[in-house]
Amino acid sequence: MQTEYLVIGGGIAGTLISYELLLHNKSVMVIDDTTAVKASIVAGAILNPVNIKQWNVAKDYQQYIAAALDSYTSLQKLLNTPVISEVPIIAFDAPAKKEDILIQPFLHNITGRDAAMIKNTFATPYTAQKISPAFQIHTANLFSAWRKYLLAKNAFLDAHFEMEQLSIANGTVMYKHIHAEKIIFCEGAAAIQNPLFSHLPFTKNRGDALLIFIPGLPKKFIYHNGIRLIPTGNQLFWCGSNYTWNYTNLEPDTEWRKQTENTLKDLLNIPFIIKDHIVAERPTTAGQQPLMLLHDSLPAAMFNGLGTKGFLMGPLLAKSFAKKLVSK
Ligand SMILES: Cc1cc2nc3c(=O)[nH]c(=O)nc-3n(C[C@H](O)[C@H](O)[C@H](O)COP(=O)(O)OP(=O)(O)OC[C@H]3O[C@@H](n4cnc5c(N)ncnc54)[C@H](O)[C@@H]3O)c2cc1C
Repeated sequence: MQTEYLVIGGGIAGTLISYELLLHNKSVMVIDDTTAVKASIVAGAILNPVNIKQWNVAKDYQQYIAAALDSYTSLQKLLNTPVISEVPIIAFDAPAKKEDILIQPFLHNITGRDAAMIKNTFATPYTAQKISPAFQIHTANLFSAWRKYLLAKNAFLDAHFEMEQLSIANGTVMYKHIHAEKIIFCEGAAAIQNPLFSHLPFTKNRGDALLIFIPGLPKKFIYHNGIRLIPTGNQLFWCGSNYTWNYTNLEPDTEWRKQTENTLKDLLNIPFIIKDHIVAERPTTAGQQPLMLLHDSLPAAMFNGLGTKGFLMGPLLAKSFAKKLVSK
């Protein structure tokens, strides 16, 4: 089987780069191990204009959001499934005076029924403000629809890629029955073991999230009070998360779960039930720099290190990296 680009990984990085390459009329084959944990599925996956801790606008937000809206709405249309929704964020603990005037257009007072709902539902003494527009990416929909789309083009293989089976000779990539012009690694945190890019400053960390059933909480908002509550359907809310740098396994962190449960008991005046506890590794780098690299001497590349704003930054980075790849 012949393809121009062999893409390893079907998280947000592999999805966006394969999409952009198709837009350039290139052929792709994506290999993804769908049994492995994807950071992209465990993620909160929101596009938030405001850094809530610092109360300033996320760096280069306007550039990133323009590309993100373009990619996610185009994918939504192409795949005919909900991929992106506008969901305002209710943020507590807003300082009375915001130093950064650029933030003002995104902040709105909460009035009327919404103010009453917040007063009745939350026990926090803090002032709440609405951040809008903000967006949520429906990751499960996106990845399964993209997989189906590629399968229909005979461009997806659900398998574990084995590096020992890869050979690159005379500028051609060979993997089992697949011959490709280039291989692009989008393996998320697994890239730390990639021998072709062994010099990179990966600093992976792990994050936990809970799935919580909160029947009385309106699902038209995301709620942020240190932890985030993000509606995922059927009155379930994604709740997270933490950053753990020293760890030996991906078992659920029971201590964090207990703390989070206590935080929620203090925060909410309404009942909730924890339904699930999920964990994944974030592929990050020293200095939080995304990686869009071409190998020095081989027809190989890497798109990784998307970090904590992967869903916001990914589309613009994928567009510019795809342009670079096709121009080589
Ligand atoms: C708890 C948590 C919360 C987060 N919240 C947010 C958030 O709100 N917003 C945000 O933008 N980001 C968030 N992130 C970060 C975000 O998840 C990452 O930036 C992004 O998902 C990384 O995408 P990726 O495609 O590089 O990696 P992944 O999503 O991990 O995808 C890698 C893929 O490669 C596949 N793979 C790896 N090795 C092989 C192999 N040998 N063979 C075949 N397939 C292979 C894996 O199966 C996987 O499908 C969060 C992360 C965590 C853990």
